Amino acid sequence: MASTPSSHIEARQTAYAGNGLFARTAVPAGEEILRVGRPLVAALDSAQLRTTCANCFVSAYNNSQSQDEGAVGGEGTLKACLGCQVVRYCSKDCQSVAWKHSHRFECKIFKALHPNVLPNTVRLVMQLLLRRHNGALSDSAWKSFLDLESHMADFKKSKVQNEDNLTTWQTIELMSHAVVKYSGTKETVDNVQAMLARAMINTHTLTTPTLDPIGLCLDPRTALVNHSCTPNAHVVIDRGCLALRSLRSIPLDAEITLSYIDATTPTAKRSSELQSRYFFTCKCSSCSHLLTCGKPDPPQDPSFERATAAAFGLQSEAVSLQTLEAARKLEAALTALQAFPPYWQPYASIQHQAFLNALSCQIWPLALKYGVASAVHIEPLQYPLPWHPIRVVRIWILLRLMVQILGLLQEKDDAVQALKHLNLDWRNLSITLYRQLRDDVAKSHGTDSSLAAEVKAFGDGLGDPSPGSEQMTAEVALRFLAQQLDRMVIKV
Ligand SMILES: [Zn+2]
Ligand SMILES: [Zn+2]
Ligand SMILES: [Zn+2]
Repeated sequence: MASTPSSHIEARQTAYAGNGLFARTAVPAGEEILRVGRPLVAALDSAQLRTTCANCFVSAYNNSQSQDEGAVGGEGTLKACLGCQVVRYCSKDCQSVAWKHSHRFECKIFKALHPNVLPNTVRLVMQLLLRRHNGALSDSAWKSFLDLESHMADFKKSKVQNEDNLTTWQTIELMSHAVVKYSGTKETVDNVQAMLARAMINTHTLTTPTLDPIGLCLDPRTALVNHSCTPNAHVVIDRGCLALRSLRSIPLDAEITLSYIDATTPTAKRSSELQSRYFFTCKCSSCSHLLTCGKPDPPQDPSFERATAAAFGLQSEAVSLQTLEAARKLEAALTALQAFPPYWQPYASIQHQAFLNALSCQIWPLALKYGVASAVHIEPLQYPLPWHPIRVVRIWILLRLMVQILGLLQEKDDAVQALKHLNLDWRNLSITLYRQLRDDVAKSHGTDSSLAAEVKAFGDGLGDPSPGSEQMTAEVALRFLAQQLDRMVIKV
């Protein structure tokens, strides 16, 4: 996918936050606003280096897009760079593109440090410096990076500490020594520190198309997009290409906005996160009116605070165990909060964690119960647009779970015993969900995205609805399923 700078947008000065990106034409909902192509720079998290192609970011566990024949998934489908053994690729093409682009400058450095690996922010800044010093980064690209805000003074003042009790500035100082030492740059330490600060404040999380975080990426064009807690756009990263897409319709001359944080948390929490990580006070309409997802913030009520503390305690005990024990703790955490609306955090995120935990423990009926409850009672309130990427990805997981359950029911497998007495047409339900998903993924990710292709291939395998079967919308089908599951007691 080539870079196609769009005529939809232009950078303009905002009244409150330096530059921003504005719509030069009206943009309908669910459209591509700007396709950046390959971002200026990206770096995988250290933990992802073994399992993710360092060029196109396809995961070894979802490698249907690989150009190498016979790829069936798993780490073995990625080939390690013979020089450093640190980065891996899904194909010879990816390896050769990455080598020409930047890896030829960093391979020896990675090799000398192997099996140790530098942190992703260090690798990201080092790559920019190495490309610049080797004539592989244009003047305009270099300038557009240096023009980004560094917030150096704010970083120096910040008292926020990481898990090693280092302030953000101390972390920047440590990282700058590593960048200078390993890149051999002639830049001053001050300059390197400013680059690290720029990287920390202007990166997006690098994600898979299903929104799993896998690293960091930075592009000066999308770095100009300012924050709103009710954003009108979102970022999709697919096969190494970054695109900005509209969530809602964006009128001519309106500012394009992204959410830098989890906007489902209450105003006070959003404010403190935006202040400590990005050094600004959000003045969006949600923050001005103390709203969370369009509704008043949860009240400061002692009983809610007690329940929240109890739930967090149980959640922290569950965090490291992908087990039945964790399933019990998470269920207890949800029970502690059951007197309050389910879309108030932390109920919503704990229920999602319980869903993922039940999936990994293969307790299929329980996973279905949590997943359907979130899709019916929580996600439409948190993200009112059905094509919001988070809703699309969660429906995609739910659809695959339903088809898995359909297969196990046909095999009379004991793992789905609890669902047997529900007299449901699982295949028709799955087809209904698929048809909605097919339309929504075209808006969230684009019709030519790898996720749209994967969804379509999966849906084609389901066939057509049975003749004479009742056709309902996905919303009605999920509500019906939620009612059935609510009455069911699932022991763990
Ligand atoms: Zn690749
Ligand atoms: Zn290498
Ligand atoms: Zn806000």
